[in-house]
Amino acid sequence: MSESPTSAAYDVALIGGGLAGLAAALLLARQGFRVVLLEKMTYPFHKVCGEYLAEESLPFLKRLGVPLEAWDLPRIQRACFSSPQGRELAFALKPGGLGLSRYRLDAELVQLARAAGAEVREGCMVQRVSGNPGAFEIATREGNLQARMVCGTWGKYANLDLQLQRRFMQTRYRSQAFVGVKYHVQADFPRDLVALHSFEGGYCGISAIEAGKFCLAYLAEGQKLKDCGGEIPELQNRVLARNPHLKALLGQITPLYAKPLVIAQVHFLPKSPVEGHILMAGDTAGMIAPLSGNGMSMALRAAALLAEWVPIYLQGRISAEQLEQQYALAWNRLFLRRIQTGQILQRFLRRPHSSDLLIRALRPFPRAVAYLHGRTHGSPF
Ligand SMILES: Cc1cc2nc3c(=O)[nH]c(=O)nc-3n(C[C@H](O)[C@H](O)[C@H](O)COP(=O)(O)OP(=O)(O)OC[C@H]3O[C@@H](n4cnc5c(N)ncnc54)[C@H](O)[C@@H]3O)c2cc1C
Repeated sequence: MSESPTSAAYDVALIGGGLAGLAAALLLARQGFRVVLLEKMTYPFHKVCGEYLAEESLPFLKRLGVPLEAWDLPRIQRACFSSPQGRELAFALKPGGLGLSRYRLDAELVQLARAAGAEVREGCMVQRVSGNPGAFEIATREGNLQARMVCGTWGKYANLDLQLQRRFMQTRYRSQAFVGVKYHVQADFPRDLVALHSFEGGYCGISAIEAGKFCLAYLAEGQKLKDCGGEIPELQNRVLARNPHLKALLGQITPLYAKPLVIAQVHFLPKSPVEGHILMAGDTAGMIAPLSGNGMSMALRAAALLAEWVPIYLQGRISAEQLEQQYALAWNRLFLRRIQTGQILQRFLRRPHSSDLLIRALRPFPRAVAYLHGRTHGSPF
Protein backbone atom coordinates (compact mmCIF):
# COMPACT_ATOMS: atom_id res chain seq x y z
CA MET A 1 0.00 0.00 0.00
CA SER A 2 2.77 2.44 -0.85
CA GLU A 3 0.96 5.62 -1.89
CA SER A 4 3.61 7.89 -3.29
CA PRO A 5 5.41 6.94 -6.51
CA THR A 6 9.04 6.10 -5.76
CA SER A 7 11.79 3.97 -7.12
CA ALA A 8 13.00 2.95 -3.65
CA ALA A 9 12.65 -0.79 -3.25
CA TYR A 10 11.27 -0.52 0.29
CA ASP A 11 9.08 1.96 2.08
CA VAL A 12 10.84 1.33 5.38
CA ALA A 13 14.11 -0.31 6.38
CA LEU A 14 14.61 -1.17 10.04
CA ILE A 15 18.19 -1.73 11.11
CA GLY A 16 18.37 -4.22 13.97
CA GLY A 17 15.90 -6.95 14.83
CA GLY A 18 15.47 -6.75 18.60
CA LEU A 19 12.11 -5.92 20.15
CA ALA A 20 11.86 -2.39 18.71
CA GLY A 21 12.77 -3.46 15.17
CA LEU A 22 10.70 -6.64 15.11
CA ALA A 23 7.54 -5.08 16.56
CA ALA A 24 7.79 -2.05 14.25
CA ALA A 25 8.40 -4.27 11.20
CA LEU A 26 5.36 -6.33 12.08
CA LEU A 27 3.07 -3.33 12.61
CA LEU A 28 4.22 -1.51 9.45
CA ALA A 29 3.91 -4.65 7.34
CA ARG A 30 0.39 -5.19 8.70
CA GLN A 31 -0.45 -1.71 7.41
CA GLY A 32 0.63 -2.82 3.94
CA PHE A 33 4.02 -1.09 3.63
CA ARG A 34 7.02 -2.71 1.97
CA VAL A 35 9.22 -3.39 4.99
CA VAL A 36 12.69 -4.83 5.28
CA LEU A 37 14.34 -5.66 8.60
CA LEU A 38 18.10 -6.19 8.66
CA GLU A 39 19.54 -8.20 11.55
CA LYS A 40 23.22 -9.07 11.85
CA MET A 41 22.61 -12.25 13.88
CA THR A 42 20.62 -15.40 13.06
CA TYR A 43 17.49 -16.26 15.08
CA PRO A 44 17.05 -17.66 17.63
CA PHE A 45 19.84 -16.19 19.73
CA HIS A 46 20.47 -15.08 23.30
CA LYS A 47 20.70 -11.42 24.40
CA VAL A 48 22.09 -9.72 27.46
CA CYS A 49 18.83 -8.84 29.20
CA GLY A 50 17.28 -9.58 32.61
CA GLU A 51 14.18 -10.96 30.81
CA TYR A 52 11.68 -9.52 33.26
CA LEU A 53 8.85 -8.27 31.06
CA ALA A 54 6.82 -5.51 32.73
CA GLU A 55 3.05 -5.87 32.70
CA GLU A 56 2.51 -2.64 30.75
CA SER A 57 3.56 -4.23 27.45
CA LEU A 58 1.59 -7.49 27.79
CA PRO A 59 -1.62 -6.26 26.05
CA PHE A 60 0.52 -5.00 23.15
CA LEU A 61 2.39 -8.30 22.79
CA LYS A 62 -0.92 -10.18 22.81
CA ARG A 63 -2.23 -7.90 20.04
CA LEU A 64 0.90 -8.66 18.03
CA GLY A 65 -0.01 -12.34 18.36
CA VAL A 66 2.50 -13.55 20.98
CA PRO A 67 0.76 -16.46 22.78
CA LEU A 68 1.85 -15.42 26.29
CA GLU A 69 -0.99 -17.27 28.02
CA ALA A 70 -0.28 -20.56 26.26
CA TRP A 71 3.35 -20.37 27.37
CA ASP A 72 2.43 -20.49 31.06
CA LEU A 73 5.18 -18.09 32.13
CA PRO A 74 6.25 -17.27 35.69
CA ARG A 75 4.37 -14.28 37.07
CA ILE A 76 6.68 -12.00 39.05
CA GLN A 77 4.97 -9.95 41.73
CA ARG A 78 7.58 -9.23 44.39
CA ALA A 79 10.89 -7.42 44.32
CA CYS A 80 13.78 -7.00 46.67
CA PHE A 81 16.85 -4.78 46.54
CA SER A 82 19.96 -5.15 48.62
CA SER A 83 22.88 -2.82 49.26
CA PRO A 84 26.44 -4.19 49.00
CA GLN A 85 26.44 -4.46 52.79
CA GLY A 86 23.42 -6.77 52.56
CA ARG A 87 20.68 -4.42 53.79
CA GLU A 88 17.40 -5.38 52.10
CA LEU A 89 14.29 -3.60 50.91
CA ALA A 90 11.36 -5.83 49.91
CA PHE A 91 8.22 -4.60 48.18
CA ALA A 92 5.25 -5.75 46.13
CA LEU A 93 5.49 -5.14 42.39
CA LYS A 94 2.28 -3.57 41.27
CA PRO A 95 1.35 -4.66 38.69
CA GLY A 96 4.50 -6.81 38.21
CA GLY A 97 5.35 -8.75 35.08
CA LEU A 98 6.34 -12.03 33.44
CA GLY A 99 9.63 -13.87 33.03
CA LEU A 100 10.38 -14.74 29.39
CA SER A 101 13.67 -15.30 27.59
CA ARG A 102 14.64 -13.11 24.64
CA TYR A 103 15.65 -16.31 22.85
CA ARG A 104 12.00 -17.29 22.77
CA LEU A 105 10.31 -13.89 22.49
CA ASP A 106 12.44 -12.53 19.61
CA ALA A 107 12.11 -15.82 17.70
CA GLU A 108 8.32 -15.65 18.01
CA LEU A 109 8.23 -12.02 16.86
CA VAL A 110 10.36 -12.74 13.80
CA GLN A 111 7.87 -15.40 12.70
CA LEU A 112 4.97 -13.00 13.24
CA ALA A 113 6.74 -10.21 11.33
CA ARG A 114 7.38 -12.52 8.38
CA ALA A 115 3.79 -13.75 8.44
CA ALA A 116 2.65 -10.11 8.30
CA GLY A 117 4.67 -9.62 5.11
CA ALA A 118 7.91 -8.03 6.38
CA GLU A 119 11.09 -9.22 4.71
CA VAL A 120 13.57 -10.19 7.41
CA ARG A 121 17.19 -10.59 6.36
CA GLU A 122 19.21 -12.44 8.97
CA GLY A 123 22.99 -12.47 9.19
CA CYS A 124 22.85 -9.08 7.50
CA MET A 125 25.12 -6.53 9.12
CA VAL A 126 24.45 -2.94 8.06
CA GLN A 127 27.66 -1.04 7.47
CA ARG A 128 26.52 2.38 6.38
CA VAL A 129 23.46 4.53 5.74
CA SER A 130 23.51 7.49 3.37
CA GLY A 131 20.99 9.65 1.55
CA ASN A 132 17.91 11.47 2.75
CA PRO A 133 14.25 10.80 3.52
CA GLY A 134 12.63 9.50 0.34
CA ALA A 135 15.90 8.03 -0.96
CA PHE A 136 18.13 6.31 1.59
CA GLU A 137 20.91 3.96 0.52
CA ILE A 138 21.82 1.19 2.96
CA ALA A 139 25.11 -0.64 2.58
CA THR A 140 25.29 -4.15 4.01
CA ARG A 141 27.89 -6.89 3.73
CA GLU A 142 25.51 -8.60 1.32
CA GLY A 143 25.02 -5.60 -0.96
CA ASN A 144 23.12 -2.32 -1.06
CA LEU A 145 19.42 -1.58 -0.84
CA GLN A 146 17.18 1.47 -1.01
CA ALA A 147 14.38 2.64 1.22
CA ARG A 148 12.25 5.76 1.60
CA MET A 149 12.58 5.78 5.39
CA VAL A 150 15.17 4.28 7.73
CA CYS A 151 14.57 3.48 11.39
CA GLY A 152 17.44 2.82 13.79
CA THR A 153 16.67 -0.14 16.05
CA TRP A 154 20.20 -1.49 16.46
CA GLY A 155 20.16 -1.45 20.27
CA LYS A 156 22.68 -0.17 22.76
CA TYR A 157 25.66 0.37 20.53
CA ALA A 158 26.69 -0.30 16.93
CA ASN A 159 29.15 0.73 14.23
CA LEU A 160 26.40 3.05 12.94
CA ASP A 161 26.60 5.17 16.10
CA LEU A 162 30.22 5.89 15.16
CA GLN A 163 29.26 6.70 11.59
CA LEU A 164 26.65 9.17 12.83
CA GLN A 165 29.22 10.62 15.26
CA ARG A 166 26.74 10.35 18.11
CA ARG A 167 27.76 12.24 21.18
CA PHE A 168 27.95 9.28 23.55
CA MET A 169 30.58 7.68 21.26
CA GLN A 170 33.17 10.33 22.02
CA THR A 171 36.32 8.82 23.50
CA ARG A 172 36.08 10.98 26.64
CA TYR A 173 32.91 9.01 27.61
CA ARG A 174 34.50 5.60 27.20
CA SER A 175 35.46 5.39 30.86
CA GLN A 176 31.76 5.75 31.75
CA ALA A 177 30.77 2.60 29.86
CA PHE A 178 29.40 -0.50 31.59
CA VAL A 179 29.59 -4.16 30.73
CA GLY A 180 26.50 -6.38 30.76
CA VAL A 181 26.71 -10.07 31.67
CA LYS A 182 23.96 -12.68 31.48
CA TYR A 183 23.46 -16.37 32.26
CA HIS A 184 20.57 -18.76 32.22
CA VAL A 185 20.85 -20.80 35.39
CA GLN A 186 19.21 -23.35 37.59
CA ALA A 187 18.73 -22.03 41.10
CA ASP A 188 16.89 -22.60 44.32
CA PHE A 189 15.01 -19.33 44.22
CA PRO A 190 11.35 -18.18 44.42
CA ARG A 191 9.66 -17.96 41.01
CA ASP A 192 7.55 -14.90 41.82
CA LEU A 193 10.44 -12.68 42.95
CA VAL A 194 12.91 -10.44 41.16
CA ALA A 195 15.96 -9.69 43.31
CA LEU A 196 18.41 -6.88 42.57
CA HIS A 197 21.61 -6.97 44.58
CA SER A 198 24.00 -4.07 44.26
CA PHE A 199 27.77 -4.12 44.49
CA GLU A 200 30.50 -1.51 44.11
CA GLY A 201 30.04 -0.21 40.56
CA GLY A 202 26.94 -2.16 39.56
CA TYR A 203 24.07 -4.48 40.39
CA CYS A 204 22.91 -7.99 39.58
CA GLY A 205 19.36 -9.25 39.07
CA ILE A 206 17.82 -12.69 39.11
CA SER A 207 14.28 -13.77 38.20
CA ALA A 208 12.47 -16.78 36.78
CA ILE A 209 11.88 -17.39 33.06
CA GLU A 210 10.19 -20.25 31.19
CA ALA A 211 10.88 -23.96 31.57
CA GLY A 212 11.90 -23.81 35.23
CA LYS A 213 15.00 -21.73 34.45
CA PHE A 214 16.25 -18.41 35.85
CA CYS A 215 17.93 -15.46 34.22
CA LEU A 216 20.83 -13.90 36.08
CA ALA A 217 22.10 -10.65 34.57
CA TYR A 218 24.30 -7.88 35.82
CA LEU A 219 25.68 -4.52 34.90
CA ALA A 220 29.17 -3.53 36.08
CA GLU A 221 31.41 -0.56 35.44
CA GLY A 222 33.81 -1.44 32.63
CA GLN A 223 36.69 -0.29 34.81
CA LYS A 224 35.84 -2.88 37.47
CA LEU A 225 36.20 -5.66 34.88
CA LYS A 226 39.52 -4.16 33.72
CA ASP A 227 40.74 -4.12 37.34
CA CYS A 228 40.01 -7.85 37.42
CA GLY A 229 42.16 -8.45 34.33
CA GLY A 230 39.07 -8.78 32.11
CA GLU A 231 38.16 -12.03 33.89
CA ILE A 232 34.46 -12.52 34.64
CA PRO A 233 34.98 -15.16 37.40
CA GLU A 234 37.46 -12.79 39.06
CA LEU A 235 34.95 -9.91 38.88
CA GLN A 236 32.30 -12.10 40.47
CA ASN A 237 34.59 -13.33 43.25
CA ARG A 238 36.27 -10.03 44.02
CA VAL A 239 33.47 -7.51 43.47
CA LEU A 240 29.99 -9.04 43.28
CA ALA A 241 30.52 -11.55 46.08
CA ARG A 242 31.20 -8.78 48.59
CA ASN A 243 27.43 -8.49 48.82
CA PRO A 244 26.52 -11.41 51.13
CA HIS A 245 23.30 -12.15 49.19
CA LEU A 246 25.22 -12.34 45.93
CA LYS A 247 27.89 -14.50 47.51
CA ALA A 248 25.23 -17.00 48.57
CA LEU A 249 23.46 -16.81 45.21
CA LEU A 250 26.58 -17.21 43.06
CA GLY A 251 27.56 -20.16 45.24
CA GLN A 252 24.33 -22.08 44.57
CA ILE A 253 23.50 -21.43 40.86
CA THR A 254 24.24 -23.88 38.05
CA PRO A 255 24.92 -22.03 34.78
CA LEU A 256 23.15 -23.59 31.79
CA TYR A 257 25.68 -22.48 29.20
CA ALA A 258 29.43 -22.86 29.28
CA LYS A 259 30.25 -19.16 29.25
CA PRO A 260 28.14 -16.13 30.11
CA LEU A 261 27.08 -13.73 27.41
CA VAL A 262 29.03 -10.47 27.78
CA ILE A 263 28.58 -7.10 26.08
CA ALA A 264 30.68 -3.97 26.47
CA GLN A 265 30.02 -0.30 25.74
CA VAL A 266 26.70 -0.03 27.58
CA HIS A 267 26.04 3.69 28.03
CA PHE A 268 23.41 5.69 29.80
CA LEU A 269 24.40 9.05 28.35
CA PRO A 270 21.61 11.02 26.70
CA LYS A 271 20.92 10.10 23.09
CA SER A 272 18.69 11.72 20.53
CA PRO A 273 15.64 9.98 19.01
CA VAL A 274 16.40 11.40 15.54
CA GLU A 275 19.87 11.64 14.00
CA GLY A 276 20.97 11.83 10.37
CA HIS A 277 17.23 11.80 9.43
CA ILE A 278 16.99 8.33 10.98
CA LEU A 279 14.17 7.78 13.50
CA MET A 280 15.53 5.80 16.45
CA ALA A 281 13.59 3.47 18.74
CA GLY A 282 14.42 1.23 21.71
CA ASP A 283 17.92 1.42 23.16
CA THR A 284 19.15 3.23 20.04
CA ALA A 285 17.07 6.25 21.03
CA GLY A 286 17.87 6.13 24.75
CA MET A 287 18.57 3.47 27.31
CA ILE A 288 16.83 3.24 30.67
CA ALA A 289 18.77 1.82 33.62
CA PRO A 290 18.07 -1.95 33.69
CA LEU A 291 17.09 -1.73 37.38
CA SER A 292 13.72 -0.40 36.17
CA GLY A 293 13.04 -3.73 34.43
CA ASN A 294 11.42 -1.73 31.68
CA GLY A 295 13.74 -1.41 28.68
CA MET A 296 11.87 -4.13 26.78
CA SER A 297 8.54 -2.38 27.29
CA MET A 298 10.05 0.91 26.17
CA ALA A 299 11.41 -0.70 23.01
CA LEU A 300 7.96 -2.13 22.25
CA ARG A 301 6.21 1.15 23.04
CA ALA A 302 8.63 3.01 20.73
CA ALA A 303 7.86 0.50 17.97
CA ALA A 304 4.18 1.40 18.31
CA LEU A 305 5.16 5.08 18.07
CA LEU A 306 7.13 4.45 14.86
CA ALA A 307 4.18 2.57 13.40
CA GLU A 308 1.97 5.53 14.22
CA TRP A 309 4.16 8.30 12.71
CA VAL A 310 6.05 6.73 9.81
CA PRO A 311 2.86 5.93 7.82
CA ILE A 312 1.73 9.55 8.03
CA TYR A 313 4.94 10.57 6.26
CA LEU A 314 4.87 7.68 3.79
CA GLN A 315 1.34 8.65 2.77
CA GLY A 316 2.56 12.18 2.05
CA ARG A 317 0.50 13.81 4.81
CA ILE A 318 3.51 15.47 6.49
CA SER A 319 7.01 16.38 5.36
CA ALA A 320 10.12 14.55 6.55
CA GLU A 321 11.01 17.57 8.65
CA GLN A 322 7.62 17.55 10.37
CA LEU A 323 7.91 13.81 10.93
CA GLU A 324 11.29 14.21 12.62
CA GLN A 325 10.04 17.01 14.87
CA GLN A 326 6.79 15.31 15.83
CA TYR A 327 8.43 11.95 16.44
CA ALA A 328 11.13 13.48 18.66
CA LEU A 329 8.52 15.38 20.66
CA ALA A 330 6.35 12.31 21.14
CA TRP A 331 9.36 10.17 22.05
CA ASN A 332 10.57 12.65 24.68
CA ARG A 333 7.08 12.97 26.14
CA LEU A 334 6.82 9.21 26.53
CA PHE A 335 10.28 8.29 27.75
CA LEU A 336 12.44 11.15 29.01
CA ARG A 337 11.11 11.25 32.58
CA ARG A 338 11.47 7.47 33.01
CA ILE A 339 15.03 7.50 31.75
CA GLN A 340 16.00 10.37 34.04
CA THR A 341 14.46 8.70 37.12
CA GLY A 342 16.18 5.41 36.30
CA GLN A 343 19.47 7.23 35.90
CA ILE A 344 19.22 8.87 39.33
CA LEU A 345 18.34 5.57 41.02
CA GLN A 346 21.18 3.80 39.24
CA ARG A 347 23.64 6.42 40.44
CA PHE A 348 22.58 5.77 44.04
CA LEU A 349 22.69 2.00 43.74
CA ARG A 350 26.16 1.84 42.21
CA ARG A 351 27.90 3.08 45.34
CA PRO A 352 27.87 1.11 48.60
CA HIS A 353 27.32 4.11 50.84
CA SER A 354 24.57 5.78 48.84
CA SER A 355 22.72 2.55 48.05
CA ASP A 356 22.70 1.64 51.74
CA LEU A 357 21.48 5.14 52.59
CA LEU A 358 18.74 4.97 49.95
CA ILE A 359 17.51 1.60 51.17
CA ARG A 360 17.52 2.78 54.78
CA ALA A 361 15.63 5.95 53.85
CA LEU A 362 13.00 4.12 51.79
CA ARG A 363 12.32 1.18 54.10
CA PRO A 364 9.71 2.91 56.30
CA PHE A 365 7.94 4.42 53.25
CA PRO A 366 6.46 1.79 50.95
CA ARG A 367 4.48 4.49 49.16
CA ALA A 368 7.68 6.30 48.21
CA VAL A 369 9.04 3.04 46.79
CA ALA A 370 5.84 2.55 44.76
CA TYR A 371 6.08 6.15 43.56
CA LEU A 372 9.67 5.73 42.35
CA HIS A 373 8.80 2.44 40.69
CA GLY A 374 5.84 4.12 38.96
CA ARG A 375 8.04 6.95 37.67
CA THR A 376 10.15 4.49 35.68
CA HIS A 377 7.09 2.83 34.12
CA GLY A 378 4.36 3.81 31.68
CA SER A 379 0.69 2.91 31.33
CA PRO A 380 -0.39 -0.34 29.68
CA PHE A 381 -0.58 0.00 25.89
C1 LIG B 1 22.16 -6.26 32.10
C2 LIG B 1 20.84 -5.83 31.51
C3 LIG B 1 19.65 -6.29 32.07
C4 LIG B 1 18.42 -5.89 31.55
N1 LIG B 1 17.28 -6.38 32.11
C5 LIG B 1 16.08 -6.01 31.61
C6 LIG B 1 14.88 -6.55 32.16
O1 LIG B 1 14.90 -7.41 33.04
N2 LIG B 1 13.70 -6.11 31.65
C7 LIG B 1 13.64 -5.20 30.63
O2 LIG B 1 12.53 -4.83 30.21
N3 LIG B 1 14.76 -4.70 30.08
C8 LIG B 1 15.98 -5.09 30.54
N4 LIG B 1 17.11 -4.61 29.96
C9 LIG B 1 17.01 -3.68 28.81
C10 LIG B 1 16.58 -4.42 27.53
O3 LIG B 1 17.38 -5.54 27.31
C11 LIG B 1 16.70 -3.46 26.33
O4 LIG B 1 16.14 -2.23 26.66
C12 LIG B 1 16.01 -4.04 25.10
O5 LIG B 1 16.65 -5.22 24.70
C13 LIG B 1 16.02 -3.03 23.96
O6 LIG B 1 15.55 -3.63 22.79
P1 LIG B 1 16.02 -3.07 21.38
O7 LIG B 1 15.12 -3.67 20.37
O8 LIG B 1 16.14 -1.59 21.45
O9 LIG B 1 17.52 -3.57 21.18
P2 LIG B 1 18.11 -5.04 21.09
O10 LIG B 1 17.18 -6.05 21.65
O11 LIG B 1 19.49 -4.97 21.64
O12 LIG B 1 18.19 -5.30 19.52
C14 LIG B 1 19.09 -4.66 18.67
C15 LIG B 1 19.40 -5.59 17.50
O13 LIG B 1 20.15 -4.90 16.52
C16 LIG B 1 21.10 -5.78 15.95
N5 LIG B 1 22.16 -4.98 15.34
C17 LIG B 1 23.06 -4.18 15.96
N6 LIG B 1 23.86 -3.57 15.05
C18 LIG B 1 23.44 -3.98 13.83
C19 LIG B 1 23.85 -3.70 12.50
N7 LIG B 1 24.85 -2.86 12.24
N8 LIG B 1 23.20 -4.32 11.47
C20 LIG B 1 22.17 -5.18 11.70
N9 LIG B 1 21.74 -5.48 12.96
C21 LIG B 1 22.35 -4.89 14.01
C22 LIG B 1 21.55 -6.62 17.15
O14 LIG B 1 22.11 -7.85 16.76
C23 LIG B 1 20.23 -6.77 17.92
O15 LIG B 1 19.56 -7.96 17.59
C24 LIG B 1 18.37 -5.01 30.45
C25 LIG B 1 19.57 -4.55 29.86
C26 LIG B 1 20.79 -4.96 30.38
C27 LIG B 1 22.06 -4.47 29.75
